[in-house]
Amino acid sequence: MFDALADKLDDAWKKLRGQDKISKANIQDTLKEVRRALLSADVNLQVVKAFIADVEKKALGEGVISGVNPGQQFIKIVYDELVKVMGESNVPLANANEPPTVILMAGLQGTGKTTATAKLALYLRKQERSCLMVGTDIYRPAAIDQLLTLGNQIDVPVFEMGTDADPVEIARQGIAKAKELGVDTVIVDTAGRLQIDDDMMGELSRIKDTIEPDDTLLVVDAMTGQEAANLTYAFHEQIGITGAILTKLDGDSRGGAALSVRQISGQPIKFVGVGEKVEALEPFYPDRLASRILNMGDVLTLVEKAQEEFDLADVEKMQSKIMEAKFDFNDFIKQMRLLKNMGSLGGVLKLIPGMGKISGADLAKGETQLKRTESMINSMTKAEKADPDLLAQSPSRRRRVAKGSGFEEKDISKLVKDFTKMRSMMQNMGQGMPGMGMPGMGM
Ligand code: GDP
Repeated sequence: MFDALADKLDDAWKKLRGQDKISKANIQDTLKEVRRALLSADVNLQVVKAFIADVEKKALGEGVISGVNPGQQFIKIVYDELVKVMGESNVPLANANEPPTVILMAGLQGTGKTTATAKLALYLRKQERSCLMVGTDIYRPAAIDQLLTLGNQIDVPVFEMGTDADPVEIARQGIAKAKELGVDTVIVDTAGRLQIDDDMMGELSRIKDTIEPDDTLLVVDAMTGQEAANLTYAFHEQIGITGAILTKLDGDSRGGAALSVRQISGQPIKFVGVGEKVEALEPFYPDRLASRILNMGDVLTLVEKAQEEFDLADVEKMQSKIMEAKFDFNDFIKQMRLLKNMGSLGGVLKLIPGMGKISGADLAKGETQLKRTESMINSMTKAEKADPDLLAQSPSRRRRVAKGSGFEEKDISKLVKDFTKMRSMMQNMGQGMPGMGMPGMGM
């Protein structure tokens, strides 16, 4: 699901890769792509506008993290914002202090409301919460039969009064029945229409006033796309919802509905339906859905690791040293350790988009080289580490280091030469990208 959206966003931040800084100018194109991607995924226009404005503000306000390119950093910002729009964390079902907890199901016909009622009952039963389902849909032929069949299947009792009774009265007596049975939770299924309709809203509203539910859940079909925003708005304004269940996520290739519901109502999506079976219900986790939308779990891990490992003050100190050509072997070792802390070299490089083409053999060589370099530096004296020129000028010093580390003098000469070259290159670039083009890394 959401493949189309993920592909479009991938195109968008490819454009940002290779830029060295997030700026107002260079994110405009990418923002436009993100906007287009969200719109074509049927996210409501108002929702998109608010989303884009937030992302832009956040992106511009953020310092550039060393070791991460702006494209990656921008993905993280878009991801964080997506998670925020969809509600940060999972919000559980209401659980009243005094049973029964009353859950009212609302939504259009065909969205999967009756199925979701049974799915919820089964979900709660598995958590040792006993349930009663109440069927108030007297209009749709066989709606009550459907509920009875489902109840049978999952071994949860159903309260109904046939199709001649008043839905409000059925709901009222249903709650009384739940109290009599001593069940923990009662779920009231209601009638839907094909479209929003005053009669339906009026009836729903009367049921709600009568049973005073702890949770009023709007059931939204993920396939409805743009329409999800209007539906959410109408139901929330007229009935007041406390959450939503997004159904048919298994069949959806667009992410629009998921984004719109929370933004429009301010209420969380609590569950998602992922199939026709009664078991096919999952708690909704915004972070998981955002990762799936953006198709980028690995990049996120990299950015998070970089944020943890790179102390910005340290990096700045390092950069000014580079500018003044004071970068020495001590700094070099420090940067290598930073890289190592972020995981094995191979692991880190694989996380970087576009680096997949480096072969396993190349990576193994890089790791070995890194170890060799480290052992050479470890055999240097304090003075030599702080002043690489000492080694450049003295063959006897190089011989001593070679002996101490088990290498030959020419290896030490090469390291010192490569290091000096790198230092002047870095000075020219005016910035130090840790790990990129370092001598002894074999690349
Ligand atoms: P209601 O009119 O809102 O009560 O809708 P129903 O519960 O009768 O569901 C309508 C149709 O959608 C049925 O064929 C269900 O099997 C199907 N359905 C419900 N939830 C899901 C879901 O999460 N995934 C899929 N693929 N189908 C679902």
